[in-house]
Amino acid sequence: MFLLDIAFGLFVAVIASLVCGFEPSIWLIIAGVAGAILPDWDMALYLLLGGKLDQFAHRHRDISHYPMITIPIAIVAVSHFCGQEYATVVAIAMLCHYFGDSFSIGWGIQWLGPIVPLYFAYRAVGADVPRFFAWTQKEQDHVASLFGDPQWATQKKRWEYDAILLIVVLAITVFWYVRTV
Ligand SMILES: [Zn+2]
Repeated sequence: MFLLDIAFGLFVAVIASLVCGFEPSIWLIIAGVAGAILPDWDMALYLLLGGKLDQFAHRHRDISHYPMITIPIAIVAVSHFCGQEYATVVAIAMLCHYFGDSFSIGWGIQWLGPIVPLYFAYRAVGADVPRFFAWTQKEQDHVASLFGDPQWATQKKRWEYDAILLIVVLAITVFWYVRTV
């Protein structure tokens, strides 16, 4: 997801500039990328504390994956220090990150956390068709133990797919930047 998050961040900066008329700049791009990857800072903590990149790596999502708390904090902080345009880009990029965590690999996030401790996800489990889930942590761990891929982090195909998408979005961003600045 890391490469995909960067692509999300670039995309958000470009779209926000085109749709909302925000002035294109390297800083706007940095804001988009930062907003898209910062929610995963808890992954570093998870790994430092001995967590592994296996089928239970979703457990890192319990600190900076509370959108109801993190997004308002980011909006207030970034608005104060950098202005509303940057705050908008950071907030949308963070939202994209959280949607990515809810719709792709992994097992959802606590959209209403920490008040409602349920992990919301839309995905296929096993051979079933994709659908919405609201798991408790115990249920989430159970599903991950049955259907999770312990090798997901080293799957070359997944990284290749994400890298191609990132290259395409990066090319669009460079084209947009050169044309508009
Ligand atoms: Zn995440």
